[in-house]
Amino acid sequence: MMFADLPLANPLQRAIRAVGYETPTPIQEKSIPSLLEGRDLLGIAQTGTGKTAAFALPILQRLLESGNFRAPKTCRVLVLLPTRELAIQVEECFRQYAQFTAISTACIFGGVNDASQKRNLIRGVDVLVATPGRLLDLIGQKAVSLKKLEVFVLDEADRMLDMGFIHDIRKVVALLPQNRQNLFFSATMPDSILDLAKSILHADPVRVEVAPQSTPIERIHQELYRIDKRRKGALLKELLAGHPEMQKVLVFCRTKHGADKIVRVLEKAGVKCSAIHGNKSQNRRQEALGKFKKEEIRVLVATDSRPRKRKLPKANSAMRAAGCLATRPAAKIPETPKGKSRAAKRRCRTPRSPRSSKMRRNLS
Ligand code: AMP
Repeated sequence: MMFADLPLANPLQRAIRAVGYETPTPIQEKSIPSLLEGRDLLGIAQTGTGKTAAFALPILQRLLESGNFRAPKTCRVLVLLPTRELAIQVEECFRQYAQFTAISTACIFGGVNDASQKRNLIRGVDVLVATPGRLLDLIGQKAVSLKKLEVFVLDEADRMLDMGFIHDIRKVVALLPQNRQNLFFSATMPDSILDLAKSILHADPVRVEVAPQSTPIERIHQELYRIDKRRKGALLKELLAGHPEMQKVLVFCRTKHGADKIVRVLEKAGVKCSAIHGNKSQNRRQEALGKFKKEEIRVLVATDSRPRKRKLPKANSAMRAAGCLATRPAAKIPETPKGKSRAAKRRCRTPRSPRSSKMRRNLS
């Protein structure tokens, strides 16, 4: 199946082409037709499977078809997520897919001043992506109401429960109109999550399950270099010089010190690059990410922390300089090709068969 075969409106098909998707991923193939029929959905899928487009595209299609208009201080679609990073990421996807339509989006999350978020809600918004705490806060302040809601998405439900959001979720659900479409996604489905899903979904939802990809995906080309620690910088420079097509390169390394060192080596060689890690202020990190997105720098060096990986933008190459491995017996090396390819998979999804290289020092 190709995207062109799906009954999606022209502006959405145009956006799909603009972001470079050709064929739907399994979750998209399984979910989009049922969601277009207006059915509720229970999805068991992780990030990286393409689940955001699986729900965003049919939702946008519904908004385009319905003929309704947003009313002041209301939203027509609510996507609830556990963290600010996920909320930003998902709203960005909606914005990309809706770029050739008049559909509006907004994102609200805690930890920042709420003034601009409230301003964005004054005229109403089509798609609101929110974390639970700030949403309830703004509902309490009458900055937004859910009474006109048409579609409710609860994403990353298992993480929501792990993070203690169950009461907030129940409060939000109690405020939703009865007549709505519900989409519920979770990477795992223990009984507690299933009970929550049953309390939100209408009877007989479509159930879609997509196994996490445990093998490196074919489109990512992977190479492993066993070299001495002292030669890693030289090899990295050589790889960059030999691959001018790699214009957006992510380098993962274990320590903050290691990241700064790689930046120094590359800058000396005239390669524009920056590092993001815990010692950099939020502003500096955002600045580096922004430059990387706009291709003002070619290489972004990041420490291998999970929360940070989620925030990284797409790149067409991920290299890993694993400086820590000298001190560990080979059997304990956690950075397995599978583990690393999960990060590469998320960040290197382009139709152009990207390259993900892993540099390791020779442990023998
Ligand atoms: P998600 O699971 O929604 O976080 O998506 C993971 C990554 O896959 C994102 O970078 C998407 O842009 C990308 N993606 C989603 N659907 C497709 C597709 N059909 N073809 C290629 N890439 C896709």
